[in-house]
Amino acid sequence: MSDEVLLMGPGPSPVSRRVLQALSRPLLGHLDPRFLAQLDSIAGDLRLAFGSSAALTFPVSGTGSAAMEAAVVNLVWPGRSVLVLENGIFGERLVAMAERAGGKVVRRSYPMGSPVDPEDARAALRSSGAEVVAVVHAETSTGVCSDVAALAQSARETGAQLIVDTVTSLGGMPVEMDAWDAAIVYSGSQKCLGAPPALGPISVRDGALGGRPAGAPVQSWYLDLGLIARYVGSERLYHHTAPVSMVFALAEALRALREEGLAERFLRHRKAAAALRAALSEFGLQSRVAQEHLLPSLTVVRPPEGLDEAALRRELLLAEGIEIAGGLGAWKAQAWRIGTMGEGARLGSVLRTVQAIARVLRRNGQSASPAAAAQAATAAWKETR
Ligand SMILES: *Cc1c(COP(=O)(O)O)cnc(C)c1O
Repeated sequence: MSDEVLLMGPGPSPVSRRVLQALSRPLLGHLDPRFLAQLDSIAGDLRLAFGSSAALTFPVSGTGSAAMEAAVVNLVWPGRSVLVLENGIFGERLVAMAERAGGKVVRRSYPMGSPVDPEDARAALRSSGAEVVAVVHAETSTGVCSDVAALAQSARETGAQLIVDTVTSLGGMPVEMDAWDAAIVYSGSQKCLGAPPALGPISVRDGALGGRPAGAPVQSWYLDLGLIARYVGSERLYHHTAPVSMVFALAEALRALREEGLAERFLRHRKAAAALRAALSEFGLQSRVAQEHLLPSLTVVRPPEGLDEAALRRELLLAEGIEIAGGLGAWKAQAWRIGTMGEGARLGSVLRTVQAIARVLRRNGQSASPAAAAQAATAAWKETR
C-alpha cells in the first residue's frame, strides 16, 4: 500500500504536484535577488488574499502559531489592556500568549459551537477599555465562523487595535483586512492556501507598531516585526535565514491562487463543503454548528452513535488512506472535523472521502451506501453557487 494519505482533516491539507515540485528546486541564498523576487511575489499575492494594502506583508518563519505569537507580542506589552474574544481552543491560545506578553488580559468566552456574539463583544470592548482586541475568524476546534466585520466596527468605535486569526479562512473565504481596519491579520500556510506547514503569513497595518513604551522591547527577538521589517522591506538587512524551500512552495501555492482567482476559489470551497455535508447527512451525521455560522473550509459533525469513533477514524486512515480529525477539549470523542481546504476542496477529494467513510461504516454494521453518498455529494456540488 502506498503511504500517500488524502489529508481531509483541519490541516495540513493536500498539496498539489506543482507545490511539491517547488519544494525540491535548487536553493538560492536568502539575499539573492531572485529569491527576494519570490518574497515580493508572495507579498503581492498575500495582499490580494488578505484584502490588505499594508506594506509589511510576509510569511513569518514558523507555523500559524508563530504568526499568532508575532501578532500578540508586537502589540502587547506589560500592563497593556487586551480583550480576547474566545470561542474555542485557538482563542484560548491567544489568551495564553497575551498573558505571557504581560498584557492585562480580559477574556470573554462564548460556548463551544457558537460564534463570538457581536453585541456582547461590543459591550465588553466598552467596559474593558481594551487597547487591543483579538478574535479568531474561523475557529478550527469547532468549525464556527465569527462575524469579524461587526467586531471590527466596534473596535473602530473604541479605537482598540484589532488582531484577527485567519488561519482557517485565508484563501478559502473572504478576508477583508483593509475594510476591517485591522492592525494585524495572520494565517498559516497549510490550511486553505495549500502549501506545507511551516510559514505563517502576516499583514501589519502601516503604523500599527507605534506607541510601544521605551524600555519594553518586543518580548521575542525572533518575532520582532520591527527588526524583520528591515529584511523584508527595501533595506534587506539580514535578520534570520529565510526558510528558502518553504518560500518557494508558498510562492507557488499563491501563484495557483492568483491564477484561479479569489471568487472561483471561494466558490470551490463552498461547493466542496456543500457536497461533503450532503453526503454526511445521508449517513445521518448531523452538523454541530448552526447553518448561518458554517465555514466553507471545515465541517464538524457528531460522530456515529454507539461506535468507537476513534477506531473508525483509524480504520479510515489505515485501510482507506484518508485522514479526518476528532474533537478537541470538551468535544473530544464528540465531533468529527473534516476539512475541505485548498486542494482538499475538490469534488474528487470529497467523493473519495465520503465513499471511504461509507465503506468503513458498512464494515462496522451501519447501513451506508457509497453510491448514494457520491450521488448526494455530486448533486450538492452542482447546485451550489
Ligand atoms: C491551525 C490553527 C492555528 C495554529 O496553526 P499551527 O500551524 O498549527 O501553528 C491557529 N489558529 C487557527 C484558527 C488554526 O486553525
